[in-house]
Amino acid sequence: MTESLLSRRFATMGRHEPLFYNEPLHLVSAHGVWLTDISGRRYLDAYNNVPHVGHCHPRIVEALRSQASTLNIHTRYLNEHVVDYSEELLSRFEPSLNRVLLTNSGSEANDLAFRMAAQHTGARGILVTDHSYHGNTTLLAGITTGLRTHEPLAAHVRAFPVPDLDAAENRDRDEQEILQEALEQVQRAAEELVAAGHGVSAVIMETLFSTEGLPRVPEGFVTGVAETVRSAGGLVIADEVQSGLGRLGSHFWGYQKHGLIPDLVTLGKPLGNGHPVAGVVTTGDLLEEFGSRNEYFNTFGGNPVSAAVAHEVLRVIDEEQLTQRCAQLGDLVAQRMQQLVQAHPRLGAAKGSGLFFGLSVFADEDHRQPDGASAKALVESVKEAGVLLSRIGPSGSVLKIRPPLALSQQELPVLLEAVEQAVGNVLQAP
Ligand code: PMP
Repeated sequence: MTESLLSRRFATMGRHEPLFYNEPLHLVSAHGVWLTDISGRRYLDAYNNVPHVGHCHPRIVEALRSQASTLNIHTRYLNEHVVDYSEELLSRFEPSLNRVLLTNSGSEANDLAFRMAAQHTGARGILVTDHSYHGNTTLLAGITTGLRTHEPLAAHVRAFPVPDLDAAENRDRDEQEILQEALEQVQRAAEELVAAGHGVSAVIMETLFSTEGLPRVPEGFVTGVAETVRSAGGLVIADEVQSGLGRLGSHFWGYQKHGLIPDLVTLGKPLGNGHPVAGVVTTGDLLEEFGSRNEYFNTFGGNPVSAAVAHEVLRVIDEEQLTQRCAQLGDLVAQRMQQLVQAHPRLGAAKGSGLFFGLSVFADEDHRQPDGASAKALVESVKEAGVLLSRIGPSGSVLKIRPPLALSQQELPVLLEAVEQAVGNVLQAP
């Protein structure tokens, strides 16, 4: 069954979209943090941030069923669901971020944010971090540095590195010096854009730098980048598609962890718990200006079903106190990961925040050579133990652990023990 499904998939959809695992997982159902495959085997999902409040959460399913059986229509009619949801969503932002445009995917949201920034600044130049991903439109393929794409970096784009205090070359250096050097590179990239006649329209940063491998950035880096870009006339876009909506425990949005207030915030994946909901949050002035020049219309973005589902996601986060639980579990995880790092010389610092964390894997005990092959073996071995996770970073050497927030304290040991066991198997001393 799985074999023939795989060949039918390749025959119809091609091979462009790689499947996870040496032997792809054929899933049939899910509940909470548990996924069930075709053979009836259950896996704890420690990878997916889309089913934010848990797979097939009964309240989300009911919100979808109830609204889908009442009214679903495009967005050019008056309907309270989209307005109710927009008010509720915006109440979770700083007062200046008080307008939202809803879309269907993170890519659409980022594309729109760049369009707004270009119109506001009159410039086209874009600054982006090394080894990042922000979506799949033609514009975004031209700024992609962290995923294989045919498109070269577009002429109006410059990438700058994100410093990692844990990297071998930074270990014995002063944090201020690392920060200064990193900000000088941003300044140079901005100057290049101006010199080439593109000007600076915006910088985009994913505020936990997930695709980059969850580097531990110097204090003041994110705000420093923002200041540099604003002095060059550009706007600041925070991409919260992965880190937003309470996942970090300590803060509802990743940019808040850095003390930054962006000009545009882009949202996606977890907003609809699996139903496609995304959007751009911005200031009244920016949206007014954009609206005065464009008739922006999005057929599905903010339709009554999407809005009802996304609204229910916010209610569940509040009522089940998921952000608070995320902070508590995140502390437990951080302690256990620290113990694991101490016990295994080839593991580097535990990274991340709340229920978004990573473990660096190295080929050597001095942590100079990132080891993507061992990280891959660990992901496979953890899967054999019944837990799903993935890996990130320029060498694919950082384990990416990002379970739905529905993970309970009772389920946490299943995840931790699978990781510990796999580390024991894969990283034994030679
Ligand atoms: N930004 C980030 C940080 C992402 O991780 C992704 C998706 N992986 C996107 C944007 C694009 O979102 P979508 O796939 O919904 O278009």
